[in-house]
Amino acid sequence: MQNDPERPHVCPACQQPMIPHEVKGIALEICNEHGTWLPGDQLGQIVTRVQKEAQSQKSRTKRLTRRLIQRRRKEREGASRSKQTSLVGALFSVIFS
Ligand SMILES: [Zn+2]
Repeated sequence: MQNDPERPHVCPACQQPMIPHEVKGIALEICNEHGTWLPGDQLGQIVTRVQKEAQSQKSRTKRLTRRLIQRRRKEREGASRSKQTSLVGALFSVIFS
């Protein structure tokens, strides 16, 4: 973790050393008793990353759903084609027997 002069390194409330922690790739410091120190726009950065992750998860779900629908459609088309083939085969066998 880089040494950031904005970081207190000790809790402003109890003066105890804060524990370095990372959330969504953003470094922050925590006092177990008094909470988390988020200098500057770290909270905003975390929110932005969470939103981006949610967005990419949403697009991934959409993509997978589309693929699943296409696969089912192909399977259904294949099934109806083989049904038609067997129907044609049955007709031929009735006509030419
Ligand atoms: Zn504290």
